[in-house]
Amino acid sequence: MKIKNILDNKRTLSFEFFPPKDEQGVERLFNTIDSLKRYEPDFIDITYGAGGSTQRLTVELCVRAYRESGMTVMGHVACAAQTREFVHGVLERFESEGIENVILLRGDPPRGSDSFVPAEGGFAHATDIIQHARENFDFGIAAACYPEGHPESPDLDSDLRYTKMKVDQGAEFLITQLFYDNDYYYDFVDRARRAGIDVPIIPGLMPILNASQIRRITDLSGATIPADLDRQLEQHADDNRAVRQIGIEHTLRQAQELMANNVPGVHFYVLNRRYSITKILDNLPGAGVSTALS
Ligand SMILES: Cc1cc2nc3c(=O)[nH]c(=O)nc-3n(C[C@H](O)[C@H](O)[C@H](O)COP(=O)(O)OP(=O)(O)OC[C@H]3O[C@@H](n4cnc5c(N)ncnc54)[C@H](O)[C@@H]3O)c2cc1C
Repeated sequence: MKIKNILDNKRTLSFEFFPPKDEQGVERLFNTIDSLKRYEPDFIDITYGAGGSTQRLTVELCVRAYRESGMTVMGHVACAAQTREFVHGVLERFESEGIENVILLRGDPPRGSDSFVPAEGGFAHATDIIQHARENFDFGIAAACYPEGHPESPDLDSDLRYTKMKVDQGAEFLITQLFYDNDYYYDFVDRARRAGIDVPIIPGLMPILNASQIRRITDLSGATIPADLDRQLEQHADDNRAVRQIGIEHTLRQAQELMANNVPGVHFYVLNRRYSITKILDNLPGAGVSTALS
């Protein structure tokens, strides 16, 4: 089913995973997906590595997840470092496997490189790959958006203009970059609505698992860690259990508040670990339930 049709009827719950480095990690990933099935996610998705490094593996994992779990799986496709033919082939494979939804991205530059350079004859922006998919396929299409602005954007207004272009080209809903202060999300949604973006904007939340990891991720994504959360992480930097607990409590508060404000869905960046997400969802009644009931 197209995710847009699900969003028309209920608040969605979704989980994002990444492709593991080895076979053991792959089996752990499938165990995690299996154990999270009881929360009845509306869709799951699996990212690919920076620079398109794991695109083939990502496709195989999505296909396996779709076949084995029967869940709605959204494929990630990016144009970073790929030719048009390669990207087209990935879309064809998803289509032939019955995967109906894709999130179309430019992608991050390969590791070790700070700036994005399109492959020769490749797509330069998410807008280009969205246009290509719209003209050649019949997918439900999602795109990324950035409540605090994309790190390469000169200002929030220009980023919003390009976000609007993604929607005008055919993105049916948006998923936000992670954020730790809900005010960024509310402000972004306000600005987006004023700019004429009328599609659902699903907040993306990432439970903190480890202090140094989250500093790396927020540095790359440009997301802010609020001062009080930052102080707590600093105080417990060497105690991973304490940090994980701080992360659970913070993300739970964020999700509760967002749901009370009628967000169209909640998307969790699960980082392939089940502990935190389980603790959060066990305390989050109504995640993913019909908005008619909430
Ligand atoms: C939900 C989500 C999932 C993600 N999944 C992955 C993943 O699987 N793999 C991965 O590597 N990364 C992933 N990312 C990160 C993403 O690839 C990076 O943030 C990347 O730097 C930008 O991708 P984009 O699709 O937003 O690019 P774009 O929309 O192309 O934006 C990139 C920059 O160019 C500007 N821009 C956009 N369109 C144009 C245009 N037509 N002309 C000029 N400038 C333009 C934008 O303002 C922005 O500054 C994800 C991000 C999110 C929020």
